[in-house]
Amino acid sequence: MYHRTQTRSVKVGSVQIGGNDQVVIQSMTTTKTHDIKATVDEINRLEEAGCQIVRVACPDMKAAEAISEIKKQINVPLVADIHFDYRLALKAIEGGIDKIRINPGNIGRREKVEQVVKAAKERGIPIRIGVNAGSLEKRILDKYGYPTAEGMVESALYHIGILEDLDFHDIVVSLKASDVPLAIEAYTKAAEKIKYPLHLGITESGTLFSGTVKSSAGMGAILSQGIGSTMRISLSADPVEEVKVARELLKSFGLAANAATLVSCPTCGRIEIDLIKIANEVEEYISKIKAPIKVSVLGCAVNGPGEAKEADIGIAGGRGEGLLFRHGKTIRKVPEDQMVEELKKEIDKLAEEHYQK
Ligand code: SF4
Repeated sequence: MYHRTQTRSVKVGSVQIGGNDQVVIQSMTTTKTHDIKATVDEINRLEEAGCQIVRVACPDMKAAEAISEIKKQINVPLVADIHFDYRLALKAIEGGIDKIRINPGNIGRREKVEQVVKAAKERGIPIRIGVNAGSLEKRILDKYGYPTAEGMVESALYHIGILEDLDFHDIVVSLKASDVPLAIEAYTKAAEKIKYPLHLGITESGTLFSGTVKSSAGMGAILSQGIGSTMRISLSADPVEEVKVARELLKSFGLAANAATLVSCPTCGRIEIDLIKIANEVEEYISKIKAPIKVSVLGCAVNGPGEAKEADIGIAGGRGEGLLFRHGKTIRKVPEDQMVEELKKEIDKLAEEHYQK
């Protein structure tokens, strides 16, 4: 099996995908791409939330033509999502796109494929092959009867073969399915045969709540095997939520190098403070911190500091006050109404120490 550290690496703008133990967070805009202002605004919101690569739909020439202007106004690498039409791919590449998502086997005549590959090669742009269980080639469906993991991998290998024949190797591959066990099986099988970095996704996973659970179950199983170099959580929600979920998921596997983590207790009858409100406030605050700090918020001091020994900083509720602690040792008591502010100050101090390292 190719562990993510063993895959070939590709460059999407300044961001590396594959060949290391990192998983790059992607999302996709929901705006009409030709609406440049709305698209740029959404891309900027995504970047602020921690999105490292943004994809835009490129369904027509108006969208493809907007890319050059969008590129001028953003900082994150941009991917164009194209189906079938090689002219849109060429226009997007001309506009300075950093990567395209297109299946070479769906482009049509060989000379069209060659033109896209030549243009991508000249600009050093990778191509993502996006296999989807819901749109497998008829030939593969006829062979297997219905979408299977084997069929999905076969489809991916077919598209890869077309690019390799043209001596093109800056490839990323996704094998998305809405069915979680099918997606897990497809990615696991793909990692045995494909040396290119894999882009993870559970497609059409649902709304914020159910889609988060479904995506985390599926991608968690895949990530835990060392598979996947980039990912997109697909939710019927604001795409910023996709980025938040992706960051949280990566944190659970220690794959988000520069993100702060919150540990908070489930609360019980010993609770002394309004913990749920505080935990939410602290979580929101640390979402922007780009340092690997572990913050703990506990409802009482009974087990408090001891329960969160590994936390860099934390608070445990007491009657009308809170205990502020570092690495399991109490540093001082603070009145309840100042607890959160004091904790934020300590978090900032720790983050500053990290940035200066
Ligand atoms: Fe209960 Fe205190 Fe543990 Fe929270 S930290 S679950 S309030 S005992």
